[in-house]
Amino acid sequence: MPGMHRDRVKPSEKERRHSRFSWIFRIAAAALFNGYVAGFVKGRIFTGKSKMVCVPVLNCYSCPGALGSCPIGALQAVIGGGTHKFSFYVLGTIMLFGTVLGRLVCGFLCPFGLVQDLLHKIPLKKIKVPKKIDKPLRYLKYAILIIFVLILPAFATNAYGMGDPYFCKYICPAGTLEGGVLLMILDKNLRALAGALFNWKAAILVFFLAGSVFINRFFCRYFCPLGALYALFSKFALYRFEIDHSTCIGCKKCEHVCPMAVKVVETPNSAECIRCGKCKAACPTDSIKGKFLG
Ligand code: SF4
Ligand code: SF4
Repeated sequence: MPGMHRDRVKPSEKERRHSRFSWIFRIAAAALFNGYVAGFVKGRIFTGKSKMVCVPVLNCYSCPGALGSCPIGALQAVIGGGTHKFSFYVLGTIMLFGTVLGRLVCGFLCPFGLVQDLLHKIPLKKIKVPKKIDKPLRYLKYAILIIFVLILPAFATNAYGMGDPYFCKYICPAGTLEGGVLLMILDKNLRALAGALFNWKAAILVFFLAGSVFINRFFCRYFCPLGALYALFSKFALYRFEIDHSTCIGCKKCEHVCPMAVKVVETPNSAECIRCGKCKAACPTDSIKGKFLG
């Protein structure tokens, strides 16, 4: 069927080792960011001092287990807060992780990336988005960043000069999954309060989750404003890829396994690369090198 394809089925031993490491590491990272186990038991949000600290990933402040704050939520809270309008701390955190790791954060640390990868494991036919649709859609995440995270909270304000966190309120699927749905399951009083806004957010969540079953990293590719911010650092991040053209045999195995459809040999430091490392593991000649540049 046009536009559909099956993922490759015979990974090498090197790929299996990489895959095992990646799953274990990412599950551990998600557990670390959401380590307040009592929150899941009591259905209450953690409010300790570590909530002042921004984590580098899209992990909702309202997740019952969250030990830190989401940088996108914090950014909107400050911009829409009516007093400071700008947070050197939040932007500094994003810049620090962006400069050192770039989108390695998306590939190895983000819990919502992990959720999407788990869903993509469901053995249904996958969709390969045609280039003429895929390419313009990739810019959507930058538009979401500019409109919903920066402009609306700053300018669509109430009588006190305060703006809503528009991305969190109307779009963020990580927030709905970790904060909304989980808290609703755990707290019957909240369930009674669910209205039109929650129904909208639930529909958006289903859209993103269903999309992830068929399209690799559906939300990361087209919609994530934090991924868009980190993408700005891809060309300058200390962690980067280099291709050894003297050993590359042009087999394109790297391209075939890439969840973000990056042409790795041509653009090893593409803004779309989430540094998942699948291409490195698949390369039969070890021609893709990941290194920190000083
Ligand atoms: S280029 Fe390699 S590291 Fe980047 S997303 Fe694709 S497979 Fe992952
Ligand atoms: S998998 Fe390795 S050898 Fe094959 S095209 Fe990619 S970089 Fe070159």
